[in-house]
Amino acid sequence: MNYHRPTGKLIAAFAAAVIVPGAILGVLAIRTLRYEETYLKKGLEDTLRIEVDQVVNSIRREIGVLSDELARGLGPLEEDNPGPTFAEWKATDALVGIPFLVSAENRILWPRRDKAMSPAEDAFLLDNQDFLNDRAEILAYENVALLPAAVEVVAVKSGSAAAGEAEDFSVSGREPAGAPPAQLRENLAVAKFRGSREIQSQRYQQAREEKKEVFSRNVLVAREEAEESEPEKSILVAGPLNFSRITAGSERGFIPRLTGDKLELFFWKKLSPAGEIAGCLVNLEEFTRRLLAVLPVPYSASRLLTVLDQNGTPLLDPLEEGASRRWQRPFFAREIGEFLPRWEVTAYLSDPSALASRARLQSLLTAVLIGTLLVAILLGGFLIFRAVNQQIVLAQEKTTFAANVSHELKTPLTSIRLFAEMLEQGRQPDPDKQRYYLKTMAAESKRLSRLINTVLDFSRIERGEKTYRREKVDLALVVKRVFENLRIRLEEAGFSCRLLVPEEPVPVRGDPEALEQVLVNLLSNAEKYSEKIREIELAVEKGDGAATVTVSDRGIGVPKAAAKKIFSKFYRADDSLTSRVKGTGLGLTIAQAIVREHSGELAYQPREGGGSRFRLRLPLLKD
Ligand code: ADP
Repeated sequence: MNYHRPTGKLIAAFAAAVIVPGAILGVLAIRTLRYEETYLKKGLEDTLRIEVDQVVNSIRREIGVLSDELARGLGPLEEDNPGPTFAEWKATDALVGIPFLVSAENRILWPRRDKAMSPAEDAFLLDNQDFLNDRAEILAYENVALLPAAVEVVAVKSGSAAAGEAEDFSVSGREPAGAPPAQLRENLAVAKFRGSREIQSQRYQQAREEKKEVFSRNVLVAREEAEESEPEKSILVAGPLNFSRITAGSERGFIPRLTGDKLELFFWKKLSPAGEIAGCLVNLEEFTRRLLAVLPVPYSASRLLTVLDQNGTPLLDPLEEGASRRWQRPFFAREIGEFLPRWEVTAYLSDPSALASRARLQSLLTAVLIGTLLVAILLGGFLIFRAVNQQIVLAQEKTTFAANVSHELKTPLTSIRLFAEMLEQGRQPDPDKQRYYLKTMAAESKRLSRLINTVLDFSRIERGEKTYRREKVDLALVVKRVFENLRIRLEEAGFSCRLLVPEEPVPVRGDPEALEQVLVNLLSNAEKYSEKIREIELAVEKGDGAATVTVSDRGIGVPKAAAKKIFSKFYRADDSLTSRVKGTGLGLTIAQAIVREHSGELAYQPREGGGSRFRLRLPLLKD
C-alpha cells in the first residue's frame, strides 16, 4: 500500500515551497538578530554625530562672535599712553584678561615695566615676552585635513592683505564677495579626510614631512571593536612658528598656547596693515562660560553632552557625578578645532545598559515575530501538504475502487453469461446440473445487486440523501432475522455459527432495514476474511442504557496499522487486485455512517486468540 505514504515528488515540493524558504528565512533572521545591537549603536552614533557636529559648529561660530566683540571693544590707542584705553577695554569686556601692545618692530609697548605693573602682568611678561618679541616660537595648530588648502589660503590672504582690503575670515566666517564659500570648502575637505583612511595617512605623512607634530586625541571613542585600541590621531597638527609668522596674512585672530596642561589664549588685532598689534590674554573662564552658553540642553533621556578641555576634564557636568563617569571614553566626540587644541565636544549614552537591553528587547520581538512566522509557514505548509496527500491517497483509492468494482461486476457477469449460454444451447441435458446452473445464476445476480446497492447506498450517504425511518425496533429480532437469513449459506460454506440473544426485547429507535444492512455487512466481512477456522458468533447484550451487538470471527484479523483506517471510504487492508478476497472498501464505511445516524458507535477490536470483533452500540429505548 505504498500510496498511503507521501510520494517523493510531493516531499520535494514541500521541501522547496516550505522547508527551504523557512530555513533560509530562519538563518537570515538569526544573522540579523546577532547584529541588532550594532545596528542600534550605529543609528545612535549617526544621530549623535549630527548633534555633536552642530555643537562644534555653534562653538566655532561663537568664537567668531567673541572675536568680533573683542575687536569692537578696543578703542583707538595712544601709542605713548595706551593705558586708559586698555583699562576701559578691560572694564567693559570680561573677556579681556591682560591687554598688550606690540610695535611694528616687535617691541612690547604694553604692559610697560616702568609703570606700576600688577603681579599678573609681570607673570604674563615673564611667560610671553620672548614670544611677543618674536624671539621664541610656539606650537601653532592647524587642521591637517586643510593642509594643502591652508597653504593656498595663506597665499590668498597675504595677497589681499597687501592690496589693503584685508579682512580676516577664518574666524568671523565672512567672505570677500564672489569667492567660493571657504567654510563650505573646508567642511568638504574635512568630510573627505574623515571618510578616507588613504587621505588621512597622506595628510599625516605630509604634516610629518613639514616637520609638524602629530599627536593623539584626548579621548578614546568607546566603540566595541576599538575597546582597547589606541586613541585616534588628532585632526590638528602643530608646527613651531613665531608671533609675526602667525599674525602675518590676517587682521586679527586668536592664538592658543599650550604649555604642559595649561592653555593660554591670546586675542590680537592689527592696528594698521603693517603696524602695531594690540591684543589681550583672554580671560579663559569667561571665554569658556560664553562658549558653553551655546550648548543645547546637555542632558536628555538618551545622551549627555559636554565639552572636555585640554586635560580631558569636563567643563560642564550635567549630572554632577564627578569622577564616576569615564569622561575620556565618550560614545562620540569631535575636536573643536585649531583655536582650542585638544578640546573635544563629547557625547555619552545616558544609560549605556539601556542600549543593550533595548537591543535585547528588539531582538526578542524580532525573534518572536520570526518564530511565529516560521511556525505559521511550517504549520500552513504541513496542513497543505497533508491535505494534498489525502487527496492523492483518495484519488488512488478511487482508482483502485473502480478497478475492484469492475472486477467484482465482471466475475458474476461472466458466470451468468456462461451458464445462460450453455442452457440456451441445450448443451447440458442433466437436470441436476441445469438446476445447479440456475441456482448459481440466481446467486450471482444477487451478488451483483448487492454490489450495486452498496455503491448506490454509498453515493446516497455521501450526498446526504439517504433517509432513515425512526421507529421502535427490537434489535434482538433484527439480529435473529439476519442470522437466520444467512445461516444456511454460512453453514454451507463450513462455518459454525452461534447466536446469543436475550429472551426479552432489546428496543432501540431506528430504521430496521438500515440496521439489517449493518449486520449483513459485518457478517459478510466475517465470512470473507475467515480462512481455516470458520467460526462466527453473533451476540446481543443489554445494559447501561445501551444495546450492544458483537460480531466475532476467527479470521485473519486486521493488521494493527490498518485498524484505524478500515472505516475510511475505499480503504482495504489488502487492496491488491490479486487479493483473494474481493471488495469495494465501502462495507464498513456504510455501516458506520448508518450507526452514526442512529446515534450509536461502531468499533473494531482485535480478538484474543485471533480474529476480529466488531462492536455496535446503540442507545437503548426506555419502555
Ligand atoms: P471490503 O470488505 O469491501 O474491502 P469493508 O469496508 O467492509 O470493505 O472493509 C474494509 C477492510 O477492513 C477490508 O478490506 C478488510 O481489510 C478489513 N476488514 C473488515 N472486516 C474484517 C474482518 N472481519 N476481518 C478482517 N479484516 C476485516
